[in-house]
Amino acid sequence: MGMPLAEFAVIWAAVTAASIGLFLALGLALEALNRRHPERRIQSREPSSERVRDMLASIRQLLVTCTCIALGIALQRAGWGVGPLAATWWSVPLMAAVGIVLLDAWFYFVHRLLHTRPLYRFHRPHHLNVTPTVWSNDSGHAVDTAMTHSFYVLLPLLLPVPVLSVVLVRLFDQVTAIIGHSGYEHFAGATMRWPWLGICTVYHDQHHSAFRYNYANFFSLWDRVFGTIHPRYDEEVASWEARYQTTAEARANPAE
Ligand SMILES: [Zn+2]
Ligand SMILES: [Zn+2]
Repeated sequence: MGMPLAEFAVIWAAVTAASIGLFLALGLALEALNRRHPERRIQSREPSSERVRDMLASIRQLLVTCTCIALGIALQRAGWGVGPLAATWWSVPLMAAVGIVLLDAWFYFVHRLLHTRPLYRFHRPHHLNVTPTVWSNDSGHAVDTAMTHSFYVLLPLLLPVPVLSVVLVRLFDQVTAIIGHSGYEHFAGATMRWPWLGICTVYHDQHHSAFRYNYANFFSLWDRVFGTIHPRYDEEVASWEARYQTTAEARANPAE
């Protein structure tokens, strides 16, 4: 079973264009939102890295990610792996949900491995940003990116995942990663803390600032199971909710 190179190239180009487009569009939109809400900045420390340098570093790693995604899709289309379910109204969201849950687990364990002594040198570049920005979500070493995103090669081969579901998983992954590095907390809420498993920007921000906590990607499940959740995470989310409340009240009663 071969893989037509021309088809791989077309898929790669489409995935890459969409991915860089989303990176720039969502990054600029979040920057605008951040400017409107300076009071939502998480860390008082200034970001250490420069904007354009961060952007280019992230785009370079996006190329690695897109290669993994295109490879998985092209191999599946060439008949490798278990073969996809027909894309229907139920199979597409179901397999996307399965993919998101699995990617969260995969990311947690690979990320913990990347924090071990032999592998940390590949993950260190990502941690040079102690104060993340919208542009730093993908910056890092190619080995780091390839290890975490080889998931996208395996997913469509090992499970009957329609291509559309792969696209949804990646869309969710990229959007939440950009928000998670944005440095401003706009999404704190009751479902983002215990007893819910949702996470908001503070989660991964604490991974960058405190380093030994919050390894997971989408949900707090694995960090809670293995005791690696930041001890002040839930408290911090609740305090953001209270701060939104105070700001809203101050805006409603400017005379006070
Ligand atoms: Zn890390
Ligand atoms: Zn990060």
